Amino acid sequence: TPTLENLLAGLRAGEVVDATALYVDGRWTPSTSDARIQVFDPATEQVIAEVADGSTDDVDAAVAAAKAALPAWSALSGAERADYLERVGQIVGGRLDEFAELASRDVGGPVEASKLVQLGLPIFNFGFYADLARSYDFGGQEVGNSLVVKEPIGVVGCITPWNFPAHQVALKVAAAFAAGCTVVVKPSEVAPLLVHAIAGVMDEVGLPAGVFNLVSGVGPVVGEALVAHPDVAMVSFTGSTRAGKRIAEVAAGSVKRVALELGGKSANVVLDDADLEEAIAGGFANSVGLNCGQACTALTRVLVPADRLAEAEEIAARIAGTYSIGAWDEEGTVIGPLVSKVQHDKVRGYIQAGIDEGATLVTGGLDTGRDTGWFVQPTVFSDVRNDMTIAREEIFGPVVAILPYGDEAEAVSIANDTVYGLAAAVWSGDRDRALRVARQLQAGQVQVNGGAFDTAAPFGGYKQSGLGREAGAAGIEEFLETKAIQL
Ligand code: NAD
Repeated sequence: TPTLENLLAGLRAGEVVDATALYVDGRWTPSTSDARIQVFDPATEQVIAEVADGSTDDVDAAVAAAKAALPAWSALSGAERADYLERVGQIVGGRLDEFAELASRDVGGPVEASKLVQLGLPIFNFGFYADLARSYDFGGQEVGNSLVVKEPIGVVGCITPWNFPAHQVALKVAAAFAAGCTVVVKPSEVAPLLVHAIAGVMDEVGLPAGVFNLVSGVGPVVGEALVAHPDVAMVSFTGSTRAGKRIAEVAAGSVKRVALELGGKSANVVLDDADLEEAIAGGFANSVGLNCGQACTALTRVLVPADRLAEAEEIAARIAGTYSIGAWDEEGTVIGPLVSKVQHDKVRGYIQAGIDEGATLVTGGLDTGRDTGWFVQPTVFSDVRNDMTIAREEIFGPVVAILPYGDEAEAVSIANDTVYGLAAAVWSGDRDRALRVARQLQAGQVQVNGGAFDTAAPFGGYKQSGLGREAGAAGIEEFLETKAIQL
């Protein structure tokens, strides 16, 4: 069975680990399909594991189990469900080193970063939703002559990407469990191992059979079967805008609720009275430095006053140089490789597009000085116009574009001139001014002067960055129906 211990033992021994079991109806079970998906070590390009390329029959079995488990699970009190969530968080926290090693081997990036983000966020969220499940008022409020009650929506299909695999699953599953829903999870086929290990923890805490189910496979087969399934009440999806549009289309067939957390092209707005060094360093920590730029909130467009462009380039080049690339277990590694060959080819294509379209390459580029591994050097372009490909499309790699602007109004207009609206940052010596600009930005989360990422705040996007909000107290509402009982 692909538990944390078994996965790590196999990976450490250099075996191709068999992670082909699915978790359905409270036990590990083989897929009805013999097809396999290979999982790679992004630093060595070697196959390290195989997962099942699951079938629509697997989806049917998992949904049936989740449906059967729903009445008893939703009838438990919030406090009873909270006990399971709390245990999951405690077990993951208790084996942080091992979970972080698994994350680093699968996604790339050093263990310390995996501890902080890949595992730190899910541990927080299992605890947070345990607390919320205990305190949440499902019983209802009297409004006029109505009693307004909250009920779990039903079976939830959770479809997740590869960049923060445990975090994205935890956000959905913990909130869905708190609400009283049962789930079928379809993790990304690109870096699935951490989610298998989390399924092992669900098994260990003795969740009632069918409450948590895991089916691996590819999006167009397993993912779409889940979205189209008549017994799935809701789909909670995190991934690309392209796949999100397809999911919304398929879900429309059964008027299913969808929550979509999609891509971004976020602006780091540096106002003329800001500390340039601090603003650029802060932006890099949330782009290049965050999972090698493979983060939906990455602050990839740095907007600086035109008369400070040369200064910004010098600072950006210097800071980029501090992000040393390397394998997860290599001495001195600050950022890892990109997760896959597909991602590597895509990011290199964007670097080439930046050069071809006439942006100034300040540092980085196509040469990595390495023969093996899907590495990309931190790359900074300057003199970028907002209509260039590298300013419009989500790159999902360690590539930053510096764009000059004239005045504050133009900075806001450039920042908002995108189909996306997930995140942004504003830097100014005057906090009130920064706040005023923050209010004008069309984005779901805006960081002012390096304000820390708030794990308990609602998270989601404006425009084509998504629908709905995850995380925090708002996160549970996504999984609830509202009923008005007239008295
Ligand atoms: P992706 O859209 O290719 O895949 C995400 C998941 O959707 C995978 O499990 C995949 O198998 C599945 N999928 C793909 N096509 C599907 C379909 N037709 N029907 C059902 N499921 C389908 O994205 P990715 O490459 O894994 O992740 C990177 C993307 O995710 C980026 O665009 C990034 O911005 C986005 N992302 C968004 C957030 C957020 O919270 N807004 C967080 C992280 C990543």
